Amino acid sequence: MKIGIVGAAGRMGRMLIAAVQSTDGAELAGGTEAADHPEINRDLGELVGGETAGVQLSSDPRALFDAADAVIDFTVPTATAAHAALAAQTATVLVVGTTGLDVDQQNAIHTASEKTVLVQAANFSVGINVLLGLVEKAASVLPDVYDIEILDMHHHHKVDAPSGTALALGEAAAAGRGVNLDDVACKVRDGIIGARPRGEIGFATLRGGDVVGDHTVMYAGPGERIEITHKAASREVFANGAVRAALWGCDQQPGLYSMKDVLGF
Ligand code: NAD
Repeated sequence: MKIGIVGAAGRMGRMLIAAVQSTDGAELAGGTEAADHPEINRDLGELVGGETAGVQLSSDPRALFDAADAVIDFTVPTATAAHAALAAQTATVLVVGTTGLDVDQQNAIHTASEKTVLVQAANFSVGINVLLGLVEKAASVLPDVYDIEILDMHHHHKVDAPSGTALALGEAAAAGRGVNLDDVACKVRDGIIGARPRGEIGFATLRGGDVVGDHTVMYAGPGERIEITHKAASREVFANGAVRAALWGCDQQPGLYSMKDVLGF
């Protein structure tokens, strides 16, 4: 299967090139970058410090979508919305890892999924998808006297906060409690804000260094505290999951799928 990478020179893009190259049954269809990127026309294999791959970094997403069976997108929200429209036009599978999409950009994903297969996940690691199930279960069992707090720490380049994964963990906790996250979420605290309302789901964001992605969900109750933590040590776990999702997507009917669907949870 031919897999294209948009945002191929980014942190995740480079991991994805290597992941496609090392996956049986997957072939690199090409990669794109923003038009002003200094590595345009560079061979993709050389870009990741390997042997020549015979395909160059381009700034023509339409040509990539025409050439690929599936495209993997870890870029920026504006680009992802445009890529979703291209996936629909060309009936190409699209795997979306970009986080921080606004309502209109998310609607572009939903619209495209009427015409083609989209797999979207805030986190493509197997471990986080197990964690999502554990978090929902714990929230369904513990009464709301157990305060739920979600902490994420990422490298200093990350632009969105809380992380997409932290929000997905919040959604899972809210689902376990039978409430809407938007009704109970507190994403920022500053100043004299008063006592913590019962039932609130709080978020805290740390940014620094080269941390790939740490997430902790806390249930702080009377006399005891439960903490469930996941730490990603390498972006490889996301890249391998995304390539797996692309291969899986080629056998599906049009629709919007999650990593839970890919893993059969
Ligand atoms: P990055 O900044 O290193 O890479 C993004 C790349 O996209 C850049 O190289 C940029 O030039 C490129 N880009 C921008 N506009 C483009 C366009 N129009 N066409 C093609 N390429 C374009 O960032 P990153 O750390 O690789 O993360 C990218 C996204 O993936 C972020 O939203 C991040 O939160 C998300 N992410 C998701 C997961 C997951 O498992 N879902 C894991 C890691 C990162």
